[in-house]
Amino acid sequence: MTIHQNLIAGEWVGSDAINNINPSNTNDVVGDYAQASAEDAMAAIVAAKAAFPAWSRSGILERHAILRKTADEILARKDELGRLLSREEGKTLAEGIGETVRASQIFDFFAGEALRLSGETLPSVRPNIGVEISREPVGVVGIITPWNFPIAIPAWKIAPALAYGNTVVFKPAELVPGCAHAIVDILHRAGLPKGVLNLVMGKGSVVGQAMLDSPDVDAITFTGSTVTGKRVASASIEHNRKFQLEMGGKNPFVILDDADLDIAVEAAVNSAFFSTGQRCTASSRLIVTEGIHDRFVAAMGERMKHLVVGDALKADTHIGPVVDQKQLDQDVDYIAIGKREGARLAFGGDLARRDTPGFYLQPALFTEATNRMRISREEIFGPVAAVIRVRDYDEALAIANDTPFGLSSGIATASLKHATHFKRHAEAGMVMVNLPTAGVDFHVPFGGRKQSSYGPREQGKYASEFYTVVKTAYTFG
Ligand code: ADP
Repeated sequence: MTIHQNLIAGEWVGSDAINNINPSNTNDVVGDYAQASAEDAMAAIVAAKAAFPAWSRSGILERHAILRKTADEILARKDELGRLLSREEGKTLAEGIGETVRASQIFDFFAGEALRLSGETLPSVRPNIGVEISREPVGVVGIITPWNFPIAIPAWKIAPALAYGNTVVFKPAELVPGCAHAIVDILHRAGLPKGVLNLVMGKGSVVGQAMLDSPDVDAITFTGSTVTGKRVASASIEHNRKFQLEMGGKNPFVILDDADLDIAVEAAVNSAFFSTGQRCTASSRLIVTEGIHDRFVAAMGERMKHLVVGDALKADTHIGPVVDQKQLDQDVDYIAIGKREGARLAFGGDLARRDTPGFYLQPALFTEATNRMRISREEIFGPVAAVIRVRDYDEALAIANDTPFGLSSGIATASLKHATHFKRHAEAGMVMVNLPTAGVDFHVPFGGRKQSSYGPREQGKYASEFYTVVKTAYTFG
């Protein structure tokens, strides 16, 4: 089998490879992917540093053209790339293709943003002096990504980094090198000069750590676990570099008595179980007021009977497998913890067998949970959710906010008063009214508060805050 190699200084290199395994069928090898060493990571950083002066001064039309071309190719190959994504990560083919289209839209958006970056001019407070405020690229940007959005997250970090004139060292998650390799190949062929974008696939503890330890990485954007995020933070402070973190969530979805039951159930099922619950914006706490509680739980049970868990590539599958054995073990552990803590496993939660060996788990819904239980406090990152019964809106809001995290927060209600109040008072970076907690647009800011995020927002024009530095220039005369 051919080895998919790393891209360092414009050359495809690397012979030490690992198998990329399909979680729907562990007998299926998606491909062989090179594993970079710490020395490779260092070579990539050197290449990115060398490429920076010319790239940072390159015309915005060149950047625009490369990003546009990339967007076009990703869109033209959406079925093939979506299939690769579903095969290596396990989300359904519809989700895989949808995410691929999203990646194309992100490259398209930042192709435009490359042309739109602007500054300000002001008069000085002193006579005969003008002040210009401009934004310049940061330098070498290290990009470290997780496995749950194998193409969209790399896209929403690589596209703005390049659009604003930075060079990049990109380390994707170990489990999903396929999409990472594919988009780097597309960008490379679209005409990026040598060293502007480097791909180093491999272990976080080796390749990622080498990036954290390098004084030549000027900024790091990271999405992943809280534990690793804290490492990124402390290493970055050590080097006085810019950093941005997107980490966990324990997102609440509040269902009030006056909610439209169908909207509430659809949004809850989507939030909790789609993409196998493996989204940082997934909801695992369904906070339900007394008057609708029993009807909501019964309707969820009914709806969950029709959710088909199966091979990600099969047309009738609604929920693909869990990404790997480690994550499956964690999900199963939390189901046991929930039971021990006294929550009632009302529906699902069993391991499922299919025609092929894979990591199949029936979505699990607990009832009679409290917000103190570990299943309500810790991020599970699987298709496991808990219903917490509350008296009224005030208690629902208090419980929604009673979490160390603050990424996304949702409410189902027909009341303008409660929707308005919730939008103002939810302690989260993103608030959803009558919509799932997951599922966002690509042209507006994405990010959270509290333990979920750190640093400027990602996506939309707000991305320029991270990928540029501000300069203030004074001119006399
Ligand atoms: P998850 O539990 O979702 O895999 P991680 O935080 O472990 O989350 O992984 C997110 C990304 O961080 C991956 O690309 C992983 O390889 C990388 N990573 C893991 N450990 C380190 C580390 N010590 N330094 C830098 N990156 C790391």
